[in-house]
Amino acid sequence: MSDGIRRDGSVLIAGASLAGLRAAQGLREGGFTGSVLMVGEELHYPYDRPPLSKQVLAGEWPPERTALTDRARLDALGVDLHLGRRAEALDAEARRVTLDDGTVLEVDGVVVATGARPRRLPGSDGAARAAVVRTLDDAERLRAAIVAAGPGCRVVVVGAGFIGSEVAATCAGLGCAVSVVESMATPLAPAVGERVGAACGALHARHGVELRTGVTVADVRPQSADARTGAGTGGAPLEVVLGDGTSLVADVVVVGIGVVANVEWLEGSGLEIGDGVVCDHALFAADGVVAAGDVCRWTWRHHGEEESARIEHWEIAAQMGTAAARSLLAGRRLAEPFDPVPYFWSDQYGLRVQMLGRPAPTDEVAVVDGALDAEDASFVVIYGRRGRLSAALAVSRPRQLMAFRPLLVAGASWEEALGLLAGRA
Ligand SMILES: Cc1cc2nc3c(=O)[nH]c(=O)nc-3n(C[C@H](O)[C@H](O)[C@H](O)COP(=O)(O)OP(=O)(O)OC[C@H]3O[C@@H](n4cnc5c(N)ncnc54)[C@H](O)[C@@H]3O)c2cc1C
Repeated sequence: MSDGIRRDGSVLIAGASLAGLRAAQGLREGGFTGSVLMVGEELHYPYDRPPLSKQVLAGEWPPERTALTDRARLDALGVDLHLGRRAEALDAEARRVTLDDGTVLEVDGVVVATGARPRRLPGSDGAARAAVVRTLDDAERLRAAIVAAGPGCRVVVVGAGFIGSEVAATCAGLGCAVSVVESMATPLAPAVGERVGAACGALHARHGVELRTGVTVADVRPQSADARTGAGTGGAPLEVVLGDGTSLVADVVVVGIGVVANVEWLEGSGLEIGDGVVCDHALFAADGVVAAGDVCRWTWRHHGEEESARIEHWEIAAQMGTAAARSLLAGRRLAEPFDPVPYFWSDQYGLRVQMLGRPAPTDEVAVVDGALDAEDASFVVIYGRRGRLSAALAVSRPRQLMAFRPLLVAGASWEEALGLLAGRA
């Protein structure tokens, strides 16, 4: 018998973004006729974040184009959306949620979809002036700062991960003089391995962006006292002091050094927290409480392996929202495991980096199409672990990459994967 929530019960969704919206849609698709209340801290209707570091920052899209939904569609879905409202506390056992206006709600089901926020540089006033790109407001503020600084705006990006690299590429496209500072010797090495990380890092130099690796940021401070009224945004240009004693002057500093899951409001909830909300294989954090998206750390079972994973990809957040709703309706006994093939993309310098699966730093790597140092910067690499294909990554070769998806679904062997593109045009 199902221990899922009543079809005419009540669900509260904390977080009004991609995962939360997909959960609301999933509940209705699953036949849920009860009340759906969604609370979101931001003042915007749910919108898409990937364009923020790309088209919105570039000025190619007006901010409205990122909208994932609107009032009319939410009304049609029967979602009662409260914007500018935070969930402040949860009692998981009682399924009682307290909002920041003091409202206390007892519901049948809770979806935790509160996402993540950017890490910031510690310390100084200068560091506080450094921009991040997580929200629409962040992206609009950053674009305004670059426009205000004028042609040749000096931008220092801290962090050569995917977001930092996208911001660097977009700023270069806007005519800014861009430097990227990365503390690791090879950008992206933990995510894609040394060789592929080096190939991705090389894209910056090819497009006139300076990349400094293996160096940390010691301080960010106004360039000098007498420059305080000078050009730049929000006051004087900033001086980014590096760990090797050198420094860079910037009109705009952008920090892209990763994110932290928004879990503080769950302190004392009875849920297990540990770099995300810890969930089982079907996204349950407790009976009647599921999590989805960037905030969720779940037990990912794939091909006989089990891994605790928190994955910050758009497609995972979308799929998880739907799956979390399905789990809530099915109940713990009958819920299906969430076992996707993760997919991620990133757009930089007119190139599209795409990845399927999840490589580990120690995985075997083989280039199966193109070359890492190819003139057109296009290639496909595959990753293998314990005799099996674990991931595939391509730059500007989407069709070849997607050929590996069925193999990843099937848990194909390394040999089979190595042979896939052989002999193909
Ligand atoms: C600039 C940028 C570019 C990206 N580009 C790509 C890309 O190219 N490819 C890709 O695969 N992925 C990309 N991503 C990642 C992708 O956008 C995320 O994985 C996705 O947004 C996660 O959705 P989410 O709903 O889990 O969380 P979020 O989108 O973080 O939303 C969580 C929401 O919950 C709100 N909230 C937080 N705490 C509370 C609370 N207590 N009460 C109520 N509301 C709360 C937050 O304000 C936020 O609105 C990008 C992300 C960013 C920021």
